Amino acid sequence: MNKCIWCGKNGDGYKELTLKSENLGENKMLICSDECEKKTTSYYQKVSRKLKFFVTGILLSVFIGIPLTFMPQIGLSIMCGGIAITIILFPFTTPQTNAFMGIKKSTILTRIIGLIMLALVLFFNIR
Ligand SMILES: [Zn+2]
Repeated sequence: MNKCIWCGKNGDGYKELTLKSENLGENKMLICSDECEKKTTSYYQKVSRKLKFFVTGILLSVFIGIPLTFMPQIGLSIMCGGIAITIILFPFTTPQTNAFMGIKKSTILTRIIGLIMLALVLFFNIR
C-alpha cells in the first residue's frame, strides 16, 4: 500500500517522483495522479524559492519578541503574531508531517493554526 504525498490517499501502483533543488536536496515521493504530481512539483519549487522568507520570518519574530518579553504582552504579541503571519504566508511543514497526512492537508492545517494564533494575539490586544 502506498500513500500519495500530495493528497494523502492510499493505493497501489503509485508513481515515484524525484524532485531536486539546491536547498531542499533530493526528495523521493509517491504520487497517485498527474494532477498531484503537478501540484507537488509546484509546491516544492515554491518552498525552495521561499524557504528563506519563512526562516527569516520565524527568526525575526523570535529574536525581536524575546528581548521584549520584559513587557510580556508586547514581546509575546510580536513573537506569536510574527510566527502566525509567517506560517499563514508560507505554510511549510516538516517532511514528516507531509508524509503523514499529505502536503495538501498539512498546508491547510498549518494555515488554520496560524489564523488561530493571529486571532488570539488580536483578541488579547484589542479587548
Ligand atoms: Zn494524490
